[in-house]
Amino acid sequence: MAKIAFIGLGNMGGPMAANLAKAQHHVTAFDLSDAAVAAAVEKGAHKAASAAEAVRDAEIVVTMLPAGKHVREVYEKDVLPNVAKGALLIDCSTIDVESARHVSAAAAKAGFEMVDAPVSGGVGGATAGTLTFMVGGPEAVFAKARPILEKMGKNIVHAGDSGNGQAAKICNNMILGISMIAVSEGFMLGKRLGLDAQKLFNVVSTASGSCWSLVNYCPVPGPVPASPANRDYQAGFTAAMMLKDLLLAQQASAASGAATPLGAEAAQLFSLFVNAGNAGKDFSGIIKMLDGK
Ligand code: NAD
Repeated sequence: MAKIAFIGLGNMGGPMAANLAKAQHHVTAFDLSDAAVAAAVEKGAHKAASAAEAVRDAEIVVTMLPAGKHVREVYEKDVLPNVAKGALLIDCSTIDVESARHVSAAAAKAGFEMVDAPVSGGVGGATAGTLTFMVGGPEAVFAKARPILEKMGKNIVHAGDSGNGQAAKICNNMILGISMIAVSEGFMLGKRLGLDAQKLFNVVSTASGSCWSLVNYCPVPGPVPASPANRDYQAGFTAAMMLKDLLLAQQASAASGAATPLGAEAAQLFSLFVNAGNAGKDFSGIIKMLDGK
């Protein structure tokens, strides 16, 4: 079993580290929060006093941090100067493509193999070990990372070279944010026209307007019993996380010259929704704002 350093034990990293420990790996855990480290220790990990200490004997390093600046800092200051020779580096955070490519280039320069491996599936998927991983990096490094990722997820997809895992994640989430607004607008228009929500669902879910946001995550209560609309938009996937990913998509659009006008509009609408005090609500709750509530 591998010696794994796990850095960043928040809502996602905590249960992911627990699944690695459950699979009998030797997990050494570090987080700036003592409470997060204590929770990981309770789930079978070993405590490290610093990130530098966690990585010193590691064969594999997994990071699950909030944003690009944290990932740059942790790799530049703690991981690369201290990690054992030959270690495999896996960053599972959702960050900007540029930071992901910058850090993996720095890792390569220091003689380390690295993949970016952001996830989808939320806290539920992290806990159940059913996450989807979108992985960027050379094929051979992907093959080495795969058995570890399989202990935390179900679908492990190779998206191409370094940074392409992040690219796949933000493209998917931009589509998701836009499609949730589209479905919400459809239901709001239907309501104004006197259409019953269940009847509209029955039509659209078997017609050309069908999509994941409708079929699995319907933003009105009723048609899809498991959707957050049925529990007052308790997350789920928070509006704050959706906004983060939409802003990453806009940053990438500007840097690459892609035209994403609906992505820009979705970012603006989610920004309004979040700033109205809904950061912690499920992102499908945006239908309430579109309904004028
Ligand atoms: P979180 O805020 O709960 O956890 C982040 C953890 O990183 C915190 O415990 C924090 O103390 C720790 N941290 C920050 N800087 C650190 C440092 N320098 N050294 C050590 N630890 C440090 O966030 P989360 O919900 O677990 O999300 C983590 C990542 O996963 C984010 O990039 C997020 O976008 C992505 N993500 C989250 C979800 C979700 O549903 N929560 C879903 C998919 C992807």
